[in-house]
Amino acid sequence: MSFTAKAPYQMFINGIWTDADSKEVFEVKNPATTEVVGTVPMGSDTDTTKALNAAQNAFKSWSRLPARKRGEYLEKVKDLLLENLQELAVMITLESGKPLSEAKGEVISAAENFAWYAAEARRVYGEVIPSDDAAKRIVVIRQAVGVAALITPWNFPLNILGRKVATALAAGCTIVAKPAEQTPITGILLWRLLEQAGLPPGVANLVTGDPVQIGKELLDNPIAKVIGFTGSTAVGKLLMQGASKHVKRLALELGGHAPFIVFEDADLDLAAKAVVRNKFRNTGQMCGCANRVYVHELVYDAFIEKLTALVQKLQVGNGLEDSTEVGPLVDEQGLIKVKQHVDDALSKGATALVGGCALEGSPGFFYQPTILVNVHKEMDIMREETFGPVVPVTTFTSEEEVLNQANDTQYGLYAYFFTKDADRSIRVSEALEYGMVGINDSLITAIQAPAGGFKESGLGREGGHWGMDEYLEVKYVTHTMTSQGN
Ligand code: ADP
Repeated sequence: MSFTAKAPYQMFINGIWTDADSKEVFEVKNPATTEVVGTVPMGSDTDTTKALNAAQNAFKSWSRLPARKRGEYLEKVKDLLLENLQELAVMITLESGKPLSEAKGEVISAAENFAWYAAEARRVYGEVIPSDDAAKRIVVIRQAVGVAALITPWNFPLNILGRKVATALAAGCTIVAKPAEQTPITGILLWRLLEQAGLPPGVANLVTGDPVQIGKELLDNPIAKVIGFTGSTAVGKLLMQGASKHVKRLALELGGHAPFIVFEDADLDLAAKAVVRNKFRNTGQMCGCANRVYVHELVYDAFIEKLTALVQKLQVGNGLEDSTEVGPLVDEQGLIKVKQHVDDALSKGATALVGGCALEGSPGFFYQPTILVNVHKEMDIMREETFGPVVPVTTFTSEEEVLNQANDTQYGLYAYFFTKDADRSIRVSEALEYGMVGINDSLITAIQAPAGGFKESGLGREGGHWGMDEYLEVKYVTHTMTSQGN
């Protein structure tokens, strides 16, 4: 089958493209037009069981393959991703709605992740520790955990899935992955490339379909030893409960509520541009999107003027059009949530300086880029992730006050602040209860850095060498020499 062939879109189990046991399918819709992009199998628990068995059978030989060989497969996937950049990017845009330029960037990031973990596979170092006993040696080795179950969201359908796949395979795990139901075809295209790269059957399995049934089997079946998940905190908590049955390991990247602080000495042009780059990327549907912008009262008016000018210029449209900077929300539920958050804020006294309602006249799920002022913490938008193109802006008077407000949340994923004061940079970055902090920068994801959250934003880290730890067990081996005279 050619890489770009439209149909059939199928699951990949034990090296074979397959329909669901039930033969049922579901439709994937383009959020910009509501047209059907394709249909994919409605897999369930029985399909998942087969995938887990296949991964289990493949584990021994894959985990024992020299790391360099595993890395060579991943390098090949990197090459294939770049060769097929355009087709992959178009599919990402069709399924998720994001502008094509962002989709292309996502393919490049995914390829870089495969390249990084191709090399990281070879750096799974152990340790030799001096013993208290002359006849003893203490050795610590790290070994693949076993079969990894990977559950991923729709907002970066290639990169979040690809990063987990690359990390787990590099560590020596075999995998069963389930992409989000909004964007499964991008996952299927990635699997076509994994197949082309020649991965042995059973090493990488893909199931699409009912998240509840598939998720339950991934938890209930003892074969999966670790669950790698990116998604909502609510589902993350369900997975934690389910994982307790077999004490499965969990790597969870969950929701956030990022504060973005503009101090009185900040470069206001830089800060305003950074809000826009961060908040409207992927139509505000990133866990790294600023959810609350706090501006020092001395610079509030100047900042708002700059921000308003930038937001008013943003071009909303179908992501396939060159001029589009902001696409649709991913689905109707996403649009409803944005409407609810804005309407709740407006009813409690907020003012929309720009936008404030959905875009009329399109079948797609478009919402106008929006700035809200006069916001306060009793509004939903100041406490829950909006996942939409809406920036709430408020003021503060002191560093202590704004730090208290910034940390007053159960989340702890991303935080940003803008200042030119070096001492403050140290103080504030250390005081923020967040896993990732950007100083004078609002797009901070980096392959080599650890990504993850404090508090209810997750467990574990992805990226860099830290990502590997989630898929590796630590084993202590002690060896006592038995011959005399040592
Ligand atoms: P979002 O709100 O961003 O869609 P979700 O947490 O609902 O985030 O979805 C992230 C991923 O989790 C998707 O692949 C989705 O299908 C999956 N998912 C949703 N509910 C469950 C569940 N009960 N068990 C396992 N996976 C689930």
